[in-house]
Amino acid sequence: MNECIFCKIASKEIPALIVYEDEKTMAFLDISPCNKGHTLVIPKKHFVNLLDVDKEYLHAVFDTSQKVGKAVKEAVKCGGLNISTNNFKEGGQVVMHLHVHVIPRLKDDGLIPWERHKERNWDDNEVLKQIKAKIQ
Ligand code: 5GP
Ligand code: ZN
Repeated sequence: MNECIFCKIASKEIPALIVYEDEKTMAFLDISPCNKGHTLVIPKKHFVNLLDVDKEYLHAVFDTSQKVGKAVKEAVKCGGLNISTNNFKEGGQVVMHLHVHVIPRLKDDGLIPWERHKERNWDDNEVLKQIKAKIQ
C-alpha cells in the first residue's frame, strides 16, 4: 500500500487547496507556509526527489513551477520568489515525494537565508576535479 502523503494528494485521496493541475503535475498550498501563497508543485507520479525524477516529469514539474511562480507573484504581489527543492534528509527533505517549493519573498520578511562558510577547509580546485569526474 502506498503511504506517500503527496501520492494521496495527487490521487485526491486526501484533500489539498489545489491551485493548478494538469495531466502530469499538481500545485497546492503548503499546509504550513513560510509566507502567504507558499505553494508546492509535485509530479502526479511518485519520484523521491530531483535526482530521481525522469526527464519527462522533470520538465513538466518545472514548467508548472514557472507557471505557478508567475501567478503567485502577481496574486500576492511579492517582490521575489524562492523556487527550490530539498533533497534527502540531510538536505531538509521531509516528504520523500519530489516537490518544488514556490515561496513568495518580501523585503525584510525575516526568512533566514543560507549561511555561508566564512572560511573553507577544502580546496575548490580539488572539489572541481572530483565533481567533474562524476558528471555523467
Ligand atoms: P520538505 O521539507 O520535504 O521540502 O517540505 C515538505 C512540505 O510539505 C512542508 O513545507 C510541509 O509544510 C508540507 N506538507 C507536509 N504535509 C502536507 C500536507 O498534508 N498537505 C500540504 N498541503 N502540505 C504538506
Ligand atoms: Zn509519492
